[in-house]
Amino acid sequence: MSLGHAGPTPYVGRFAPSPTGPLHAGSLVAALASWLDARAAGGLWLVRIEDVDLPRCQAGAADRILAQLAACGLLPDEPPLYQSQRGARYQQVLDDLVALRLAYPCACTRRDIDAALAAQGLARERHVERPYPGTCRQGLQGRAPRAWRFHATEYQSKMPEALDNQALEATFSIASNGTCWTDRRLGPQFQDVADQVGDFVLRRADGLWAYQLAVVVDDADQRVTHVVRGEDLADNTPRQILLQSALGLATPRYLHTPLVRAADGEKLSKQHGAPAIDDSRPLQALADAASALGLPPAGKENYLPQALALWVKAWAQNYNSTL
Ligand code: GLU
Repeated sequence: MSLGHAGPTPYVGRFAPSPTGPLHAGSLVAALASWLDARAAGGLWLVRIEDVDLPRCQAGAADRILAQLAACGLLPDEPPLYQSQRGARYQQVLDDLVALRLAYPCACTRRDIDAALAAQGLARERHVERPYPGTCRQGLQGRAPRAWRFHATEYQSKMPEALDNQALEATFSIASNGTCWTDRRLGPQFQDVADQVGDFVLRRADGLWAYQLAVVVDDADQRVTHVVRGEDLADNTPRQILLQSALGLATPRYLHTPLVRAADGEKLSKQHGAPAIDDSRPLQALADAASALGLPPAGKENYLPQALALWVKAWAQNYNSTL
């Protein structure tokens, strides 16, 4: 079993928007929370533009997001990093994983995967993620490679011991029966990646880099110690912890923020047509985000820096003990 404990490292946090549209009320919550956490810890706050999925990106959205953040007084401490410029680095890391026999090429189409799962008696259900059946784990059998996958199943199975109570007190731990980590807001979390996700994709069949690989490499290269992001991403965390472990990288602390829901209960998202925040009234947009985070109203403060200072204090009271 491999156990992780947070050490006294200098704090580096980040906000990592995908520029598929401007900031909306939901993404501002993650932006504000990550900024508050960095400020409350006296650390650095970085912005990374996750434009790795270029076909989904919107022209001009990255600049718009940076301008919206600036209007809200959320200014990064270093120039933003753009994932679209990091292909060579991702390739190097994939090559390292291949050399370690921790990544393999996959020839399966979606239809092949469905057929293999059906043969195992696993019917397709809407909105239910099913694990990759492992078809190409032992080789391509003459088929042409399409994507690259991480040997998650084998990597996890080589972890000797099962999770125990000691593991639950650690910030994270990986065992042969699953990975657990302690989220700073949600508490102890668990996922058996081998069973629930299987060998996940690192490079997609269309040649694009998968989020899991890019996020792990960038968080490490940017020396990120604390990840604060929306709760919709929480179940990606064990995949990222496994990859970090396989690559010998440090695992950051994680805090997942509450999601903002639209009137119909759906998560607010760009795909759902969430409107851009009104950056001509940044204090109002921030006050809404602060309220979603359970922070007190800005009260009489109608001066942005003072309202932000008030929220930094309230945030520190809630979360500095979990750093
Ligand atoms: N780019 C992702 C998003 O906009 C966030 C990834 C992360 O924070 O790890 O949903």
